[in-house]
Amino acid sequence: MPDDEFLAQLKAFEGREIAGLTAPDEVNQAMIRHWVQAMGDTNPVYVDADAAAASVHGQIIAPAVMLQAWTSQGLRQTSAGRASGTGPMSAQDELLNLVETAGFTSVVATNCEQEYDRMLHLGDRLMTRSVIESVSEEKQTGLGVGHFITTRVEYLTTDGEPVGRQLFRILKFKPGTGRDTAAAGDGGAVKADAAPRPKRPRPGITPDNAFFFEGAKQHKLLIQQCSACQTLRHPPQPRCDHCGSYEWHPLEASGKGTVYSYVVNHHPQVPAFDYPLPIGLIELEEGTRLVAEIVDCPLDQVQVGMAVMVTWIDADDELRLPAFKPATVSWSAPSEAANT
Ligand SMILES: [Zn+2]
Repeated sequence: MPDDEFLAQLKAFEGREIAGLTAPDEVNQAMIRHWVQAMGDTNPVYVDADAAAASVHGQIIAPAVMLQAWTSQGLRQTSAGRASGTGPMSAQDELLNLVETAGFTSVVATNCEQEYDRMLHLGDRLMTRSVIESVSEEKQTGLGVGHFITTRVEYLTTDGEPVGRQLFRILKFKPGTGRDTAAAGDGGAVKADAAPRPKRPRPGITPDNAFFFEGAKQHKLLIQQCSACQTLRHPPQPRCDHCGSYEWHPLEASGKGTVYSYVVNHHPQVPAFDYPLPIGLIELEEGTRLVAEIVDCPLDQVQVGMAVMVTWIDADDELRLPAFKPATVSWSAPSEAANT
């Protein structure tokens, strides 16, 4: 099918209604209690009638962000409905079928916005009215080429009073068409003796930490140093804890360090890594510490206090990371050295 014809078919879904849902239960104390316990929210206004009565609300309220919970149908029911094909297909099912048939089989939720008109109280019973708000043209994303589908859900009481609404956006994409995959497709740095494996997760680059990863690309282990009082700091942050200055410059570390602490990670296993995976908290001789892999060392020989030296993991064209291996000559921890 030509692209423009496919897009026209997708666009035809914009504005179409999706079958509404009616909450199986009224807003109730038991669901609220379990929800706030799971979330660790200790505000008494949700669970303590006396405290709630004394509050501006005058009675128990449900956490606003529970909005979606009241009409949730449960995983079993939701998947059974779609899988069995019984009953008339909703516009949403039709749309998802259309994009899946075209190869956009993977899904990731991208964002959710909620608005609240009022707090919900015990005894409120909700229903929804939903509409397909928009379907985007094909977009290239890091995950793959795909279409963003945005759904608008209006929440009302069964008496018809609006209480809130939600915009929910998903990306339906073609697996294996992401930017990373495309880059590695021809002549990528896949080792001849190893099966292709997913790339390592990308670090979250910020204006504060970008220098660290840029330095790593050149095999330089950099530490932030305050330009006013010369205090070193890591992880990177915008301001000196010691004197408050925002001025800083990078200092290249010698790469000598000691294992201050470590863990050996067994689970969960991420495909880009080998397990068991020893991760060290390395104290550099300059005095700052960083978290890094310990390599070239049998697991039973990893020890707190052992002398290590920086080495480099050249993960791919864009990502190089410091790791630490046992040092050929030993040195003691900076804290011990300072005492002698
Ligand atoms: Zn300072």
